[in-house]
Amino acid sequence: HITLGIESSCDETAVGIVADGREILANVISSQIDIHTKFGGVVPEIASRRHLESINDVIEQALDEAEVTMDEVDLIGVTYGPGLVGALLVGVATAKAMAWARGIPLVGVNHMHGHIASNYLEYKELEPPFIGLVVSGGHTNIIKVDDYNECKILGATRDDAAGEAMDKVARVVGLGYPGGPKIDKAAREGNRDAIKFKRVYLNDGSYDFSFSGLKTQVLNYINSERQAEREINIPDLAASFQESIMEVIADKAISAATSYGNNKIVVAGGVAANSRLRELLESKGEAAGIEILKPAQILCTDNGAMIACSAYYQMKKGEFADMSLDACPGLEF
Ligand code: ATP
Ligand code: MG
Ligand code: FE
Repeated sequence: HITLGIESSCDETAVGIVADGREILANVISSQIDIHTKFGGVVPEIASRRHLESINDVIEQALDEAEVTMDEVDLIGVTYGPGLVGALLVGVATAKAMAWARGIPLVGVNHMHGHIASNYLEYKELEPPFIGLVVSGGHTNIIKVDDYNECKILGATRDDAAGEAMDKVARVVGLGYPGGPKIDKAAREGNRDAIKFKRVYLNDGSYDFSFSGLKTQVLNYINSERQAEREINIPDLAASFQESIMEVIADKAISAATSYGNNKIVVAGGVAANSRLRELLESKGEAAGIEILKPAQILCTDNGAMIACSAYYQMKKGEFADMSLDACPGLEF
């Protein structure tokens, strides 16, 4: 069974081809990072135009790489939300046109379910239930995953997402876009105890997060150092800031798994690539008897294979879309 998955929710035009829901035959990602870097973030109009220019080539490349023809594709999956409306529309329109013209069944995929599904590609034996930790550019969620594409949010950010906070701080200190990987890299040379930033646990027993206060703390620190004409040690700042985000995320995820009696945490989303988050989860998980599963770097950020995988499991439940499928920018879990 061959599924073709299309992802265009943000700044990656991506197409993946997956066999029987679990085996990646191709995973082609055309990133727009080079253009958006000039603006310090994603410019929606430019993103849609770029998706439109590249999508056909990316599909061709994926088919070539997988060595399959369109005649062999049995299912098309496409991200229809959440994301930028113009960007999503390019993927949705392309998927509908292909499905219609070739008579192939179509499935609309929730991008966040896709992020979780990336783990089914990494771990061939993985099955729900488990606790999911999704940390990306727009989301920071702890979820109870009860079945394929079926989950309940236990905690979410009340303001900025973790990736968003990292991108903003990186921009202010001139590390560039996207900030997450740059902070991760700079932090490796720094001392994470150098600057004391508060950890925000919210202390209300919830699994929610808040990162905007921390972002303000960091920005205030930068301003006061600049005013005092002191040189800012970027690696120390990056390491201290990163630690105060990742420690809270790791603690809350472990505590959710413990209280729901689940011994597996499945990590997903762009920030799952963060090396310090991985370390903290490993060490805290080991102490608590919880296994940490995380996809390879390439499967952490937006890609088409994770969308194909998610689509495959929706197809198994008979959840098909028709030609009325539309982009849904604010789609929830
Ligand atoms: P969403 O999935 O919520 O719609 P998105 O698709 O833009 O948002 P992803 O592509 O999943 O988000 O992830 C991008 C985010 O991941 C960016 O904020 C980026 O800075 C962050 N990121 C990538 N690598 C790392 C890393 N090594 N450490 C921390 N953050 C990282
Ligand atoms: Mg992205
Ligand atoms: Fe994403």
